[in-house]
Amino acid sequence: MLQVEGLTKHFEMRRGVLRRVAGVVQAVTDVSFSVAEGETLAVVGESGCGKSTIGRSLLRLLEPSAGRVSLDGVSVTDLDANALRQMRRKMQIIFQDPFGSLNPRMTVAETLAEPLLLHGLATNDTVTSAVSSLLRTCGLQPWHAGRYPHEFSGGQRQRVGIARALATRPRLIVCDEPVSALDVSVQAQIVNLLKDLQGEFGIGYVFISHDLAVVRHMADRVAVVYLGRIVEEAPAETLFARPRHPYTRSLIAAAPRPDPALRTHGAPVEGDLPSALSPPPGCAFHPRCPMAAERCRSERPVLRSVGNTRVACHFAETVPADAQAAESAPSDNLRRRLRVLEAARNKETA
Ligand code: SF4
Repeated sequence: MLQVEGLTKHFEMRRGVLRRVAGVVQAVTDVSFSVAEGETLAVVGESGCGKSTIGRSLLRLLEPSAGRVSLDGVSVTDLDANALRQMRRKMQIIFQDPFGSLNPRMTVAETLAEPLLLHGLATNDTVTSAVSSLLRTCGLQPWHAGRYPHEFSGGQRQRVGIARALATRPRLIVCDEPVSALDVSVQAQIVNLLKDLQGEFGIGYVFISHDLAVVRHMADRVAVVYLGRIVEEAPAETLFARPRHPYTRSLIAAAPRPDPALRTHGAPVEGDLPSALSPPPGCAFHPRCPMAAERCRSERPVLRSVGNTRVACHFAETVPADAQAAESAPSDNLRRRLRVLEAARNKETA
């Protein structure tokens, strides 16, 4: 359904009266992936690694510097403004902070009616019942329609954000850290709502998150991003059971583990993310990589297939013994979060 080839977004930094180019921030470089109908691809990585830039570039909320994005065979990157507006009906986005993305001066009814009327999905006569139906689908009540965003809790506001995204019957939704700002129990409800909607409508998700428990619960496949490039991509089960890239192993290890004996995926990632203005030569991860060799400092590893994983590491076949022995079993913290998510799901099903 969604094809992304060589997506690149670089920002020019301009300074001085003459606005000369002082540098180029390489936020996203040569990112390629696909998402099938009803599939969830999670995009994970540290803050500032380019995850959100990828999400916004897919919808052309940020204009890509290069590359191609296609939805159902139509090249989104080549559309003119008019055609892009029509295409946006099929591609929606949910933000981390629904308070920031909802107009505080509009009632929920007005917020949801706007896309319905704009895209001809309802008339003045049918819009009220269409809004009520959307609210019910997203776990709210029709009488919520008359309320303003500030009158809702965080979880309810996110449900309104989801209802707005759902209004245009999209094929794809980019979920940009949709539960990061919520309490754990509310996170579970929202994640399960997203899963249920996917089951019902066959929506594809690009699920941007740094929370591995949520990703593990939600994703069919996972793409790990480091300094604007995909360094590993694999089915979720494979990635958590046998992470091949040292950075992926570090991310999994970074999830808090009360019992040090369970720390089997190697050390949490150390040091800071280098500046995207001047990425390190060779493998961009080499200054922080516990496995770095001389070759890594000069030769950038290409993304290549190893088994059912795509990975960019010269030594992807050499998975350390401790990482090989490492789970399937998630850390205690991940296990606890997964239990909460499952419990909430069972409760809703019951
Ligand atoms: Fe580490 Fe070298 Fe692999 Fe980069 S290529 S992740 S520096 S081992």
